[in-house]
Amino acid sequence: MKVVKFGGSSLASGKQLEKVFEIVVSDPERKVVVVSAPGKRYPEDIKVTDLLIECAKKCLEQEEPKDQFNALIERYAAIADELAIPAEIISEIYNDLSSRLNSDKSNPDRFIDLVKASGEDNNAKLVAAYFRKKGIEAAYVDPKEAGLYVTDEPGNAQVLPEAYEQLYTLRERSGILVFPGFFGYSKKGEVFTFSRSGSDITGSILANALKADLYENFTDVDAVYSVNPSIIERPKEIKELTYREMRELSYAGFSVLHDEALVPAFRAGIPVHIKNTNNPQAHGTRIVSDRDNTNGPVVGIASDEGFCSIYVSKYLMNREVGFGRKLLSILEDFGLSYEHTPSGIDDLSVILRENQLNAQKEVEIINRIKTELHADEVKFEHSLALIMVVGEGMRHNIGTMARASKALAKAKVNIEMINQGSSEVSMMFGVKEVDEIRAVQAIYDEFFAAVPV
Ligand code: ASP
Repeated sequence: MKVVKFGGSSLASGKQLEKVFEIVVSDPERKVVVVSAPGKRYPEDIKVTDLLIECAKKCLEQEEPKDQFNALIERYAAIADELAIPAEIISEIYNDLSSRLNSDKSNPDRFIDLVKASGEDNNAKLVAAYFRKKGIEAAYVDPKEAGLYVTDEPGNAQVLPEAYEQLYTLRERSGILVFPGFFGYSKKGEVFTFSRSGSDITGSILANALKADLYENFTDVDAVYSVNPSIIERPKEIKELTYREMRELSYAGFSVLHDEALVPAFRAGIPVHIKNTNNPQAHGTRIVSDRDNTNGPVVGIASDEGFCSIYVSKYLMNREVGFGRKLLSILEDFGLSYEHTPSGIDDLSVILRENQLNAQKEVEIINRIKTELHADEVKFEHSLALIMVVGEGMRHNIGTMARASKALAKAKVNIEMINQGSSEVSMMFGVKEVDEIRAVQAIYDEFFAAVPV
């Protein structure tokens, strides 16, 4: 049995829904269909979820969200029209959205979640109605009644362990089950959404709970690419990668699947297959527990900018018990999360995302590190890019680091920092942002262009 999830662009119009239907019915194993809210039909279009957020905010400001409300109903009505789905579904959606907008607003974040979740909830009803119209047994599943329990953190809910057992009983239902992505219910019965793009998480939870054989995630690209296609034209597609490799890649710019979505599938050892709704014949990318590592040491290269480092040096740092802890607890006081901490005998760098800081915080951090830790030197370095070179094969190949650093030297990129992940699945290079693209191209050429495909 397979759980199949379709993203917003796969459900943006009637034409897209036709493709979805064909994909689902072409394989009788595809039993549970998880849907996002309708996404963009063209680049300048607005996603239903974004319209819903605007709509909810207007209500909170005591304004009439007439334009947004009409635009929302119009989105669903256009799809229903295109596919000749009976019109009652649109009045049902109209009533549902109106009653959500008229509900209690005493907790604004909770109110926004309730409105935001309607995007997927109503879309699941629409998709189920369409499947039935096509003569297939299909039913909308209410996550509340099915038992998708989550924590009560607005916009960042987490699944509760007891949800899994409850959801398992969905296996007994007949026909195709259309399940809305992106949200669940707290134990008190209130709606809470996952973080943005969270329908991926719903699919993974259901795959785990229902003990599916496969979790198929349909999106709008043929595969996960070995490098960002805006840096390298037509890069190599990745056919298979492990959960760990995917995790390392998603860290810096690979956004095909939501970060939190791998965990439930990974825990149950269920493969995740990324596929393209617009080109279902393409092989796609499979994410699995183990893979054959015969295709070289590197599977992908990710990069992201907007990092900075705090460099701290103090003579005899290595002998001082608790230095690292004290340093990190200062950062904790400022609510900062860090990415890496490469260190030497008398110095330590902490790498963080720059957007968490401002000039005043930086001065305060430097002062505290100097006075509380008696450091000799403390300084910030800005505008860094991190490049992650990822591959399970690294563990068994000698000289991967040498090849990567030689390629960077040849491209005249100065390496600011190197960190080899403890898992030996990745190597990180810190370079100046201005060198990022050149650095990625050089490493890609070394590991991919040079290897005959
Ligand atoms: N519709 C939601 C969003 O735009 C969730 C999703 O599509 O996965 O974030």
